[in-house]
Amino acid sequence: MTDRKHELAANLAKVEERIGAACAAAGRGREEVTLVVVTKTYPADDVRILSGLGVRHVAENRDQDAAPKAAACADLPLTWHFVGQLQTNKVRSVVGYADVVQSVDRPRLVTALSKEAVRAGRELGCLLQVALDEGEGGRGGVPPAGVEELADLVAGADGLRLDGLMTVAPLTGEYAGRQQAAFERLMDLSTCVRRAHPAANMVSAGMSADLEQAVAAGATHVRVGTAVLGVRPRLG
Ligand SMILES: *Cc1c(COP(=O)(O)O)cnc(C)c1O
Repeated sequence: MTDRKHELAANLAKVEERIGAACAAAGRGREEVTLVVVTKTYPADDVRILSGLGVRHVAENRDQDAAPKAAACADLPLTWHFVGQLQTNKVRSVVGYADVVQSVDRPRLVTALSKEAVRAGRELGCLLQVALDEGEGGRGGVPPAGVEELADLVAGADGLRLDGLMTVAPLTGEYAGRQQAAFERLMDLSTCVRRAHPAANMVSAGMSADLEQAVAAGATHVRVGTAVLGVRPRLG
């Protein structure tokens, strides 16, 4: 094994142990939680190593980095998630490789994703990104009051499949420093959405610093970058 493979294997084992312990503490089965490794800023070589170590879900947040990486890894059995703020002019490219877009947050984006998914002849999974800091963070997201309407829009759009909800723990507002409360709020919103859309049962919450709180709240997917790959060399 190369040094990097050793390092990634050891980090993955630690993350796996954390997820397992969090599931046990919450009385949940380990299979209820899917690990999505956020590979942003790291090279395609790392994605290849991770795939060899059994990772099946990876996520990226910038199309200009993700598109060449996904192309270089097209032979691997990976599900690609897009987790960044998405401009409509990048939608055609993203639809070319993403299996799930976790950052759907406005009607214009739904229209653009639908058009390109139909054009590409594919069905694209969509999570609504919910902003629990009421517009302060600038990281995108639909406010809770807009979730049901946007969910209906995605569910009715050709080429799109409504898979569920996603959030990033807020740094400001009433949920600042209260990750578990934020994730529980997301779960409540998920319960509402599932009344009309029972199959939309994905709940993506929790990152390296707060995956335990997300698992405790009921998340089905955790998005972990730093704890697997290391501290990122630049902002991303
Ligand atoms: C970068 C990123 C993550 C992973 O964050 P870490 O703290 O590195 O685990 C998760 N979700 C989103 C949306 C991200 O942009």
